[in-house]
Amino acid sequence: MTKIAMTTPLVEMDGDEMTRVLWKMIKDELICPFVDLKTEYFDLGLEHRDETRDEVTRESAEATRRLGVAVKCATITPNAARVDEYNLHEMWKSPNGTIRAMLDGTVFRTPILVRGIEPGVRSWKRPITLARHAYGDVYKNSELRVDGPGTVELVYTRADGTQERALVHEFDGPGVVQGMHNLDASIASFAHSCFDVALDMGQDLWFATKDTISKTYDHRFKDVFQEVFDAEYADRFKEAGIEYFYTLIDDAVARVVKSDGGFIWACKNYDGDVMSDMVSSAFGSLAMMTSVLVSPDGVYEYEAAHGTVQRHWYKYQKGETTSTNSVATIFAWTGALAKRGELDDLPELVDFAKRLEAATIATIESGKMTGDLARITTLDDVEVLDSLGFIQAIRSQLEAA
Ligand code: NAP
Ligand code: MG
Repeated sequence: MTKIAMTTPLVEMDGDEMTRVLWKMIKDELICPFVDLKTEYFDLGLEHRDETRDEVTRESAEATRRLGVAVKCATITPNAARVDEYNLHEMWKSPNGTIRAMLDGTVFRTPILVRGIEPGVRSWKRPITLARHAYGDVYKNSELRVDGPGTVELVYTRADGTQERALVHEFDGPGVVQGMHNLDASIASFAHSCFDVALDMGQDLWFATKDTISKTYDHRFKDVFQEVFDAEYADRFKEAGIEYFYTLIDDAVARVVKSDGGFIWACKNYDGDVMSDMVSSAFGSLAMMTSVLVSPDGVYEYEAAHGTVQRHWYKYQKGETTSTNSVATIFAWTGALAKRGELDDLPELVDFAKRLEAATIATIESGKMTGDLARITTLDDVEVLDSLGFIQAIRSQLEAA
């Protein structure tokens, strides 16, 4: 059998612990036998990040900017315990944070639906993709404890020295106060990423804020989205037969729960933090959730939404059997390969990615799955496979198809 050719390499970001083990299994069993894989490889495993003083993370983000498509394995974000465990020079920052800051992207998370793993919300038939703005608001706030009577004001001093003031509150006793900000440029790039992904996926885009209460702050988000939409996307949405729909956040929540899915839901930073956990738990499992970072200039980085599955790694190291779900990592690869194929006009590569996704879903629907899914499935005849066994079952399914 001749392998499917590639032209531009993918940026390959290897990672840590159990997902690093799955990464190699996926390449050996599901990608390399079928595709003449071309990648620029970056080892983002914690040891190598430490050896390179995290330079490798920045290099991988630069390569992504240059080549356009990356696939990333889950990585450890060090905390004090990891600094001891790996004897690190420093408590390196989250690679995802570093990459996101360099690419200025928005993260889109989409559940992978299979028969037998049913959403907690019965009406949901199709995936809901959550797009979370990743800059500002309460995550970059400044707060004060007010310890007694007094006046709190917002003061804006322009570059030319002129000032504008707004009264926050005249306190007659103790309380708390908070200041937040956002940037037109960041909101606009968030809007661009959302509209681009909606066109890419051929799905409606919903956006919601609380602009009736926050008449300047949230209203600015609503206005920027509408301006970007009218100027650059209205015609393309019409052509694609999709809609941009704005509503209030509380109305959006009610509609989402009653919907049958199949749309993208864009959220401000805090709403996205809360709603993405709600949506992913309601769909069943973090191990069945894909994640893609899309930059406003059309650069894509695909990964799994879960972490390095540390507990399973310690079992694996002791030689014990693990049954770790590789679906989200497989879909990170298929997402990246399909995007590469689309950009390079390689229909065979796109088709391969779709067939691998179909084989993965068919394997689970035939009752062959990992332990995490076996615990929640509604299927009757279930065979629990170990980490490698599951990947090999997908390979058999792929070869049979
Ligand atoms: P985790 O890797 O997401 O795993 C938490 C638990 O969820 C696991 O112990 C396991 O439950 C279950 N789980 C998650 N993914 C699974 C899979 N593919 N198959 C089966 N079960 C799965 O989170 P963590 O163990 O708390 O974090 C480990 C490391 O990941 C941390 O160092 C963190 O910094 C990093 N992290 C990285 C990313 C990223 O790179 N995108 C994201 C989040 C966390 P059971 O133990 O019950 O089987
Ligand atoms: Mg959260």
